[in-house]
Amino acid sequence: MITQVKTVSPEAIEEAAALIRAGELVGMPTETVYGLGANALDENAVKKIFEAKGRPGDNPLIVHVSSVKEIPALVREIPAAARKLMDAFWPGPMTLILPKADCIPSAVSAGLDTVGIRLPASEAARALIAAAGRPIAAPSANRSGKPSPTTAQHVFEDMEGRIPMILDGGACEVGVESSVIDATGEIPVILRPGGITPEMVQEVIGSVSVDEHVMSPLSEGDVVRSPGMKYKHYAPKAKTVIYDGAPENVIAAICARYDALIAAGEKPAILGFDEHDFGGRTVISLGSVHHADDAAARLFAALRELDERGETAALCEAVDPHGIGLAVMNRMGRAAGFDIERV
Ligand code: AMP
Ligand code: MG
Repeated sequence: MITQVKTVSPEAIEEAAALIRAGELVGMPTETVYGLGANALDENAVKKIFEAKGRPGDNPLIVHVSSVKEIPALVREIPAAARKLMDAFWPGPMTLILPKADCIPSAVSAGLDTVGIRLPASEAARALIAAAGRPIAAPSANRSGKPSPTTAQHVFEDMEGRIPMILDGGACEVGVESSVIDATGEIPVILRPGGITPEMVQEVIGSVSVDEHVMSPLSEGDVVRSPGMKYKHYAPKAKTVIYDGAPENVIAAICARYDALIAAGEKPAILGFDEHDFGGRTVISLGSVHHADDAAARLFAALRELDERGETAALCEAVDPHGIGLAVMNRMGRAAGFDIERV
């Protein structure tokens, strides 16, 4: 199969929408990461997503809509707290877990009784869903286990020959996947942190809880409420360690470890902030230390770059885990197998 990459335009969106209606897959931009989209109501089309990604069948997909009007047909109920969150944060980087209606194929929900729904802020994504005339199931468009794609080029690297078309809408603004929030009860539970932060949810609902697995590795037998959490994600080939503490301690510890790795014949790289001086050692930038959203937008590309450059070790500066910093630390933590050195 030839994989065409087309810049977003009305014609390209029509072409992509026709592919979705025909049961094919399309790589699509969103404000979070690139998605691998298929008609969410077509079980055969949805199965192609799992094949193209090499995704385990027990990891559910998020269903994307172009307007809140499309939602009542997809769910059994919209609890009051869910409605408040929709009003406050949609369109945007938030997925709500709701009780699913029968029209959602069980392949989408991985057999669960719930479904994740999102109204994306990306205009190209909404235009595609509206043109297709169907909700679009779309996980991140990476091969399973690789970092999520934040450019059309990343999607091409992972999906060339597997899908007919990628819509190129430029680099993703947010850069980490949506916040996944269980909104089936009165108190929203953040199952996966993202651009809509616990602080923002707290402000609207008055209460929020964060699933314990957001910042800890899973042990065998743990039951997870967000199935994606149990898979090793975002892992570069480089052995990855995070350094957390006062900036001067972090910089000193990273430089010492870097030099020891060089002496041992390894090829290390630092994921660090622009304001910090690592004395000419190899640094892949996470942007400004003052902007966690810079780190969010850059992290996945930085993890891919490690592999492209054949680095064998990655030494990462921790991010303050507040606001979107929690999402950055969750993804970085999983890339590092939660190997975090406090210095
Ligand atoms: P991805 O689109 O690749 O970021 O994956 C979507 C993630 O959303 C999954 O890995 C799950 O963790 C989460 N998710 C989707 N649907 C549900 C659901 N019904 N219940 C809980 N988590 C879900
Ligand atoms: Mg994913």
